[in-house]
Amino acid sequence: MSQQGYVAAPPYSQAQAGIGGYSAGFGGPPPQSHYGVYGSPPQGYSAPPTGALKPPASSSSGMPTPPVSGQYGANIQQNGAHTHSFPPPVASASSMSAYGQPPQSAFHSMAQAPPPTQQLTNQMSAMNIGGYGQRPMQAPQSPSSSAAPQQFQTSPPAAMGHPPLSPPGQQLPSLGSPPPMGMSGPPGPGVHQPPLGPQGYPQQPGSPMSGSYGAQMAGPQMAGPQSGAFPGGFPGGPAQMAGPPQKKLDPDSIPSTTQVIEDDQAKRGGQVYVTNIRGQVPPLVTTDYTVQDQGNASPRFMRCTTYSFPCTADLAKQCKVPLATIIKPFATVPKNETPLYVVNHGETGPIRCNRCKAYMCPYMQFIDGGRRYQCGFCSCVNEVPAQYFQHLDHMGRRMDLYERPELSLGSYEFIATLDYCKNNKPPNAPAYIFMIDVSYNNIKSGLVKLICEELKTLLDRLPKEDGAEASAIKVGFVTYNKILHFYNVKSALAQPQMMVVSDVAEMFVPLLDGFLVNFQESRAVINNLLDQIPDMFADTNESETVYAPVIQAGVEALKAAECSGKLFIFQSSIPTAEAPGKLKNRDDRKLVGTEKEKTLFQPQRGVYEQLTKDCVAQGCCVDLFLFPNQFVDIATMGDVPSHTGGSIYKYSNFQVEANGQQFLSDLRRDVEKSIGFDAIMRVRTGTGFRATDFFGAVYMNNTTDVEMAAVDCEKAVTVEFKHDDTLSEESGAVMQCALLYTTIGGQRRLRIHNLSLNCSSQLSELYKSCETDALINFFAKSAYRAMLNQPLKTVREILVNQTAHMLACYRKNCASPSAVSQLILPDAMKVFPVYMNSLLKTPALVGSTELSTDDRAFYRLLVNAMGVEETQVLLYPRLVPLHTVDVSSEAIPAPVRCSEERLSESGIFLLENGLSMFLWLGQACPPDLVQNLFGVPSLGHLSSEGPASLPVLDNAHSRKIHSIISSISQQRSTSMKLLIVKQKDRAEMLFRQHLVEDKGLHGGASYMDFLCYVHREIRQLLT
Ligand SMILES: [Zn+2]
Repeated sequence: MSQQGYVAAPPYSQAQAGIGGYSAGFGGPPPQSHYGVYGSPPQGYSAPPTGALKPPASSSSGMPTPPVSGQYGANIQQNGAHTHSFPPPVASASSMSAYGQPPQSAFHSMAQAPPPTQQLTNQMSAMNIGGYGQRPMQAPQSPSSSAAPQQFQTSPPAAMGHPPLSPPGQQLPSLGSPPPMGMSGPPGPGVHQPPLGPQGYPQQPGSPMSGSYGAQMAGPQMAGPQSGAFPGGFPGGPAQMAGPPQKKLDPDSIPSTTQVIEDDQAKRGGQVYVTNIRGQVPPLVTTDYTVQDQGNASPRFMRCTTYSFPCTADLAKQCKVPLATIIKPFATVPKNETPLYVVNHGETGPIRCNRCKAYMCPYMQFIDGGRRYQCGFCSCVNEVPAQYFQHLDHMGRRMDLYERPELSLGSYEFIATLDYCKNNKPPNAPAYIFMIDVSYNNIKSGLVKLICEELKTLLDRLPKEDGAEASAIKVGFVTYNKILHFYNVKSALAQPQMMVVSDVAEMFVPLLDGFLVNFQESRAVINNLLDQIPDMFADTNESETVYAPVIQAGVEALKAAECSGKLFIFQSSIPTAEAPGKLKNRDDRKLVGTEKEKTLFQPQRGVYEQLTKDCVAQGCCVDLFLFPNQFVDIATMGDVPSHTGGSIYKYSNFQVEANGQQFLSDLRRDVEKSIGFDAIMRVRTGTGFRATDFFGAVYMNNTTDVEMAAVDCEKAVTVEFKHDDTLSEESGAVMQCALLYTTIGGQRRLRIHNLSLNCSSQLSELYKSCETDALINFFAKSAYRAMLNQPLKTVREILVNQTAHMLACYRKNCASPSAVSQLILPDAMKVFPVYMNSLLKTPALVGSTELSTDDRAFYRLLVNAMGVEETQVLLYPRLVPLHTVDVSSEAIPAPVRCSEERLSESGIFLLENGLSMFLWLGQACPPDLVQNLFGVPSLGHLSSEGPASLPVLDNAHSRKIHSIISSISQQRSTSMKLLIVKQKDRAEMLFRQHLVEDKGLHGGASYMDFLCYVHREIRQLLT
C-alpha cells in the first residue's frame, strides 16, 4: 500500500447541477413536436400475460373510466359488516330515554345491531341495563400516577383535578344482575360467544357500522343532568362505588385488535383484490391477499386514511379525520403479482396534460372520436398527438385500452427522456461508498474486521437491473477517524493506494480515477484492501472521530463522478474531533417534561442543514450504522440520513458475538434492496383538493416537490390533503403520484401510481371507509414532527383531543340515537383508540427520564419513514402463544392480545413489533417443551438473564419454532435480535413494555383507562 499525504487543492469545482439542473424537467411540458413513435405499440411494453389484464366481465363496474362518465359504482361495499342496506332509523321514544331506565328499551337498541365482532362488547351494555348505569364505572386516572394525568389534562372538568388512575385490574361496579331477556354475561377470557346469525338480531337502524361498547364506559358525569354531583363523585370513592358488589370488567368486552385482524383475514385472506372499483377499501395490511391491478394502484403502493373524502372543507373540518395517503412508491411486489410494466414512448416521452402536467392514465377520458382527451385531474381538454390516436369503441373507450398500461393500470413506469435528466444528459449508474470508522472502539470490538470480511462476498450481490449480467453500481472505500483515508482500487493496480486527507475543514476528494470502480473488475485489489484495513489500524489509539466531513467527502466524490449513490457510514461514537459538525454531549434529561424537552430532538443545524441540501442536490443517500456505547446525539447524526431517504441502524454496546449476525443481516438487506436514486416526487390531484403536507425521509425545497436522494422499497411518504373547493360525488377524488428517479442501472424513469377515491356529503360514508392502520401512521408521523416545535404535553393533548373529536363527530352525525352513556365507535375505527394509546406511550412521546434520549430520537426518525404495515405492528405487536403450536401444521398460532392477562405461566410466547423480538418463558412452562427447545430439563438450567440464543435442535418442536421465527423475520425490513426472557426475571421489563394494552411502564394509561377517558371526552363534546 502506498500512502501519501495529500495537499492538492480541491480539483472538482465543476458546476453543481443541483435541483435546478432539471431544465424543463419534471415540471416542464413535454416536447410537443414529433410523435413519430406512437404508431406501433410502445417497445418497452410487452403484452400482459393472458388474463392478467382481461377486461372485466361487466364493463360498467369494471375499469375505472374517467370520472365524468359516472360509471363508478358509488357506495361499493367496503367492510362487510355494514354492507347491507338498513331501514331508516326508528327512534322510538323508549330507546332515546332508555339510559339507566328499565331494560327493555336500552336492550332493544343494543340487541338490534351487533355484527359478530361486537357481540361480546354489546353484552356489557346489556348487563348494564340492570340498573347500574349511573354509577361510576371506574376512575380512569389516578392523581398518584406520575405520567398518565399529564397527557390528559387538556380540559379537565372544572372541579375534577387530576383524573384518578384506576388500579391495574379494573374494578368496576357490579354488573352482577343477570342481563335481561336472556342475554348471558360476558364470557370468560378465551370463551367465544356462539355466533348469532343476523336473523337473531334485527339490524340496528341507521347505524350499521357502530359497535356499542356499553354504558359502563361512562364516567360519573354520564347522566348529564346529574353531573352536578360529579366533582365529588368522580374519584370513585367507596361511597359511590358501594352497593353492587365489585366485579372485574371483562377485557374481552372492549374492541380487540387481534380479533379485527383475524376477522379480516378470514373474510378477505387468500383472495384476489382487484383494483377496479373507485373508493374500494383494501384488506388490512395484516391480511394475506393478492393484488390485481385494474386501474388503481395496489394498496401496497398507496393506502388512504379514508376511501371516501368528504365533499366540502366544512365537513372535513367537522369530523377532523385526516385525509391522507401513505405512499410507498417502491413497495415490494410479491412474486405472484405482476411487476410494473415499463412504457417507452421514445423521444417524445410520456404524454401529459397541457395544463396540470398529469401523466396519461386511466382517468383521462377520450372524446371527439378519440382525437381529444379530457384530463381527469384538471378537466382541460387536450389534443391527442397524431401518433397516439386510436379509435374508440361503442363504450367510448380506446380500442387499444388493454394494450397500453398507461390506459388500463393503476401503476406503471415511463422511460424518461433527456428532458427529465440533469443538464439534459443521461445519468451515470449510481455508486455505493463504504465509509468505515476505524477508531479504537470499532477496531477493538472486531467490527472493522467483520465489515471487511462481509464486503468481500456482499459486493457480489449488489442490485442489478432485470436481465443485466452484473450490477452497474460502482463502489468506493473510505476509512476515517479524525482524518479520512481514500483508496485507489483501480483494477490495474497490484496494490490498493491510500490517500490521506487531514484537512477535514475543507473536504475534497483526492482522487477521481480509481476511487469509484466496478467490483467485478477490481475484485482482486478490493479484496486485498479489505484484507489489509483491519491490520492497518490494529494498533490505533485514536478514539476521536469526525462525521460531517465524512458525508461531505461522499457527496464530493459523487459530484466528481457525476452520479447519484449511497454512503454506508459505520460509526461508533459522537464526532468530537475538531471539525465541521463537531458535536457535544447535550443529553440533558432534566429537560424531560419541560417546555424545552423538544430541544432534545431538534438536530444541531448549520453544517448538517447545508450537508442535507448538498446530498439531496447530488442524489446522495446516507445510510448510518451506529454502534454507540454512550450518547451520540442521534437527533443530529440522523438528520442527513432522515432527509435523504437513508436508513439508520443502531446496535448499542455492539459485540460481534451478540449482535454480529443481526448487523450483518441488516447490512446485506440494505445493500441488496431495491432502490431508486435522485428522486423527485409530485402528487397531483383532481380539482377541489390538493396535497398540502408531506412526512417521510424526504426533503422539501418548495411546497410541492418531494425530493429524495434515494427511495427504497421500505420508505413511505405520508401525504396530507386539504380541500380548496368542493368535491363532487360524481367525479370522486383522483390522485396521481409521479416519481422521477434514476434506476440502479442508470436509466431515468417515471414511476406513476394512480388512485381514485369516492367523495360523499355523508360523513357516514367517510367513517365507513376509514382505515385505522393508515390513520395511525398519519398521526404517528404528524405527532413526531410536531414534537420538534411544541411541548410534548401539548402534542399528546392534541392527539387525545382529536381522537375524541373524530369519535364524537361520528356519534353525533352517523350513529343511531342511543344513550349518550354508550360508547359508540365506527366499525372501521373501533380499534383506533388502542393504537392511539399505544402511540402516546411510544418512547418518543412518553416523556420519561428513564428512557435514553438517543433511543427516543432514534425511534422518532424510524417511524418518520415507515409505511402502514410497519407502524401497525410497531404500535400493536404480535404476541404469539408458541406453546399451542401444532408441529404438524404450517400455521402460526393465532396471536393474542398484547396484555399481561393473556400470558400464562405455563406458556411460551413470541412477541415481535418489527424492531424487537422476544421469547417469553412462563415460570411453569412444560419441561418437555423446555427440553425440546433448549435441550435442558427445566428452566432452572437456563441462566438467570435468559439464554443468549435459541439452539437449533433436532426435534419437531424446535424446527417448528425456528421456522416461525424465520418466517416472521422475513416479513420485516430490519433484522430483529431474539431476546429470551424468563417470567419474573429482570429482563422481563424489556418485554413487558410492549404489552400495549396494559398501563405503560414509563407512563401512559392502559387501553381500558384510555378508552374510558376518551369516552368521557366524547361525552363532553356532545353536551
Ligand atoms: Zn390536467
